[in-house]
Amino acid sequence: MNADHPHLRNVAIIGSGPAGLTAALYAARANLNPLLIEGLEAGGQLMMTTAVDNFPGFEDGIMGPDLMAAMRKQAERFGAETRTGNVLSVDLSDRPFVITTAEETLRTRALIIATGASARMLGLPSERALVGHGVSTCATCDGFFFRGKPIAVVGGGDSALEEATFLTRFASHVTVIHRRDTLRASKIMQDKAFANPKISFEWDTEVLEVRNPAQGLVSSVHLQNLRTGVRKDLEIEGLFVAIGHTPNTDLFKHQLEMTDMGYLITREGTKTSLPGVFACGDVQDHVYRQAITAAGSGCMAAIDAERYLEALGH
Ligand code: NAP
Repeated sequence: MNADHPHLRNVAIIGSGPAGLTAALYAARANLNPLLIEGLEAGGQLMMTTAVDNFPGFEDGIMGPDLMAAMRKQAERFGAETRTGNVLSVDLSDRPFVITTAEETLRTRALIIATGASARMLGLPSERALVGHGVSTCATCDGFFFRGKPIAVVGGGDSALEEATFLTRFASHVTVIHRRDTLRASKIMQDKAFANPKISFEWDTEVLEVRNPAQGLVSSVHLQNLRTGVRKDLEIEGLFVAIGHTPNTDLFKHQLEMTDMGYLITREGTKTSLPGVFACGDVQDHVYRQAITAAGSGCMAAIDAERYLEALGH
């Protein structure tokens, strides 16, 4: 914070997943007094996860929310400040950059973007109407509610098969609905799913409608075979949509270079197309998407921001 301009920061970080919190930790330890702005989904995707068994250093695993709470405490121990508030707009045409939330407008010399990615949906009105009432994008969050019930998972990637396999712990049966007849998922995931007697597949099939919004619950899905055109109903009580993710980059459209899929493009570490703006985590990575890689790139972003500010003489 600057004494003359109380709303001017050296570094602001948008997003509070592993990338944002690691950037905050490193920026705080570099005495940059970072401000971390977290949105409504504070903690990011790990908040919707149960055991994380692949974050190095936790030999017995750690629960996702516990890992995020520990990362946050660690960043705060070194002076990182956290603010909750949905960012409404970011103006990168002016310097220092301008960030507007519902509560305040602040300026920052360097910006670290760690806004992550969000689950993609099918886009059906009936699906939207039933989110939280039988339609879910997070098996680990909601699987428990479907104990002994038939459910379906949409998608053919690793996420879909991972969710389907996990859900067999609760559900009486899991049907994987995939729009093609070959899976995108890795061989090991496929083998695991094929070997599971509680999982079956509807190939070449799309979901036309989720029923029944009028009752406020999922009673079936109306399906269509894309090869034969034949339609049928599948009775289920839960639908898990696992068809990938969309990066959260709407705030930066027409301001920063992005891929066709909307991921921020970074070069030479975490530099975006605009000097002083850095990106880390899933918002710029559709390949690895791991907590540890997100955290690693958060560290890189803080170091890149520190060097940028140093070169400016701050
Ligand atoms: P993904 O690999 O992009 O797969 C998305 C799946 O959803 C595809 O099968 C796709 O069908 C289908 N799909 C997309 N849009 C659809 C629509 N509108 N209607 C119906 N189906 C649709 O996404 P992901 O499974 O989330 O995986 C993302 C990345 O994370 C991958 O690199 C994956 O390997 C990785 N991952 C790894 C693990 C693990 O190793 N434990 C677990 C989860 C994810 P098509 O196949 O026809 O395109």
